[in-house]
Amino acid sequence: MNACPREPEVVDAITRGDWIQADEALRTHAASCAACGELVTLMQALREDHAAVCRAADVPAAGTVWWRATIRARAEAAEKASRPITVAQGVAAACIAGVAAAFAGAAWRLLPSFAQPDPLVMLALGLGVCIVVAPLVIVLAAARNS
Ligand SMILES: [Zn+2]
Repeated sequence: MNACPREPEVVDAITRGDWIQADEALRTHAASCAACGELVTLMQALREDHAAVCRAADVPAAGTVWWRATIRARAEAAEKASRPITVAQGVAAACIAGVAAAFAGAAWRLLPSFAQPDPLVMLALGLGVCIVVAPLVIVLAAARNS
């Protein structure tokens, strides 16, 4: 089917919603032209469906929409504000762990009664602590975000 040169006029008239009051020559053309007739049938069906869906839509009250938007905005603002705090807490926890490890190392060296461990044993011990602590940190962070 070839496109009709008057299709834009038909579309414009139906889109404006005044097909019944449209130009008599245009309606006569649509009745005789297969492409325009099909276009009119299709567009009118779509317009009627659109109107029916709009009538059946269950739109909440304006106060309810405003209340939900306010709650959502507050939640988003609180989440945005808490991100730097979470990062700062993570950095503080890392600093505390580092200082504690430094003090433990210094205390270990100052006390002669303890045997000096092998550096590989200390490295393995540190990796073991990281393997145990990392999942806990992830679980705590995930629980905090949910
Ligand atoms: Zn036509």
